[in-house]
Amino acid sequence: MKEKAPLDRSFPSTAEPIQKLVQEFSKLPGIGPKSAQRLAYFLLRAPEEQNRLLAEAIISVKQQTSLCIICFNVTDTDTCLICRNQERDRTKVCIVEQPQDILALEHTRIYKGLYHVLHGAISPTEGVGSNDIRIRELMDRLGGNPVAEIILATNTNLEGEQTAMYLSRLVAHLGIKVTRLARGLPFGTELEYADDVTLTRALEGRQEF
Ligand SMILES: [Zn+2]
Repeated sequence: MKEKAPLDRSFPSTAEPIQKLVQEFSKLPGIGPKSAQRLAYFLLRAPEEQNRLLAEAIISVKQQTSLCIICFNVTDTDTCLICRNQERDRTKVCIVEQPQDILALEHTRIYKGLYHVLHGAISPTEGVGSNDIRIRELMDRLGGNPVAEIILATNTNLEGEQTAMYLSRLVAHLGIKVTRLARGLPFGTELEYADDVTLTRALEGRQEF
């Protein structure tokens, strides 16, 4: 059995359910202790129905989603909405690190092809090798489908560049055009945080890799 993390006793005057909630909120990205407290007290005052909907949404986000069997985007059916859309250009596959990168690129509304989510990037320093991300699945996919171009849209940090380099070598013999998001994206950028204009420019100005 997993051991329970001890509750923070730095505010012994706070009721335990509040402490627990603050502790859970503090584990979320971008939430410091102050924000965690604010959220906990907000929920304490909120209507019970609203809190129940929030709790159910948190549970179902894990229970009712899985990964698309084609592109590994998050989906609530076998294949995701993008793979199912017959109007998408099936000759282009844009390769991203995380599902939320698809959201960022879709927001630009200029890309009409398909995606492939790697779920990470190659990082020797963190012990992430090519077998730890969805590269084999990508190669299987490229082998059986008429893909004319792959767009390497991994992040522009060291891991993203290494991954892009690795993939470009891997597909070199397949005769597929390989492009990389380039212009406008400064080194170190995480795609998820790039603004629409920068991302649109980077897509339009993608260069042969
Ligand atoms: Zn999909």
